[in-house]
Amino acid sequence: LAGNVAIVTGGGRGIGLAIARSLAEDGASVVVSGRDAARLDAAVKELEALGAPALAVPADAGKREDVDRLIEVTRERFGRIDVVVNNAGITRDQLLVRMKDDDWDQVLDTNLRGVFLMTRAAGKVMMRQRSGRIISIASTAGAMGNAGQVNYSAAKAGVIGLTKAAARELAHWNILVNAVAPGLIETDMTAAIPAEAREAMLQQVPLKRIGQSREVAEVVRFLAGDGASYITGQTIHVNGGLYI
Ligand code: NDP
Repeated sequence: LAGNVAIVTGGGRGIGLAIARSLAEDGASVVVSGRDAARLDAAVKELEALGAPALAVPADAGKREDVDRLIEVTRERFGRIDVVVNNAGITRDQLLVRMKDDDWDQVLDTNLRGVFLMTRAAGKVMMRQRSGRIISIASTAGAMGNAGQVNYSAAKAGVIGLTKAAARELAHWNILVNAVAPGLIETDMTAAIPAEAREAMLQQVPLKRIGQSREVAEVVRFLAGDGASYITGQTIHVNGGLYI
């Protein structure tokens, strides 16, 4: 990925930081975005220590002005955008009948609207370049559904649909659009799940262990690279067999 410029939303921690690291190790310049500026600065220091040019851009993934600024700042600093990883995501779990409108709106805004905004804005830049890779982080929940997560499951299923449609539209400009759907991965997001519920979910995983962010990042790195030049519109599942 030497010479490539990548943006990773939610790149300050968790799966996003692992992806940023992995792209940086492969020689890409990496822009990390998120809401927490201090965390992004720490991530940039780590990426620079790997020898990669890196930049922190505080931006809310669900806000159009923020997304447009993220794209603009990246172009000003690095001149192009080769890889976009739509990773920013949240959960607001609740049973369907108890779910508040706000739980629905917040999750859809960040997890689906955010992917739309970034894909549209980056797509325009990539069309002019006649090349690009857009990789969105979906979830097993978007394929299987998950009780207590109608908002999250709907958003992630939406990401998979958006990926397929965008892949068809953007293929003409040599822009490849794919998704990676992780299962249960050890991050702050899953640390918030009560131990009993986590254990019950792990019982459903044939590999009988939680996944690591690095194991998701490796697949993103592959999809960003030359080896994936004939793959578009796909969702690659990284879940220890949870969904087969
Ligand atoms: P974390 O909660 O550890 O990290 C979430 C990341 O998203 C943070 O970097 C956070 O940054 C960023 N983020 C959240 N909301 C916004 C926002 N509105 N604008 C910009 N950035 C935002 O989660 P994970 O690393 O576990 O999750 C990363 C992705 O992987 C998500 O899309 C998630 O849905 C998906 N996923 C995770 C799984 C898991 O088991 N962990 C399983 C399947 C999918 P900040 O707080 O600084 O804004």
